[in-house]
Amino acid sequence: MHEMSLMSEIIDLVSLDAESKGFVKVNKIHVVVGDLSNVLPDALELAFFFFQQQGVPLIDEETELCIIREAAKAICSACQIEFEPDYRIALCPECKQPHSLLISGETFRVESYEGSDGNEG
Ligand SMILES: [Zn+2]
Repeated sequence: MHEMSLMSEIIDLVSLDAESKGFVKVNKIHVVVGDLSNVLPDALELAFFFFQQQGVPLIDEETELCIIREAAKAICSACQIEFEPDYRIALCPECKQPHSLLISGETFRVESYEGSDGNEG
């Protein structure tokens, strides 16, 4: 399950940045996961839960993981139509040629996060 190491990287990245900004807590992490990114959202959530339980600085059980799915999209280079491929290499549904260009769906990144500096509430 490589989601474990991906989640670990996300937490390191966010924690480091949050610390440098003087945050005492991370409230929410937004992650974009493309349908063709080879990352399973369920496994990612499970990994996040594991780290929450472990007790990572700045992250506790109230920290939310928000997964934003990115749909797969491709454009056929022969007939220029846009379609939703099931795999990275997909046949165009119109001309049945494999010359399509993937334009979205492979993304895996931290979109943003919300932290608090301890002065609220
Ligand atoms: Zn085509």
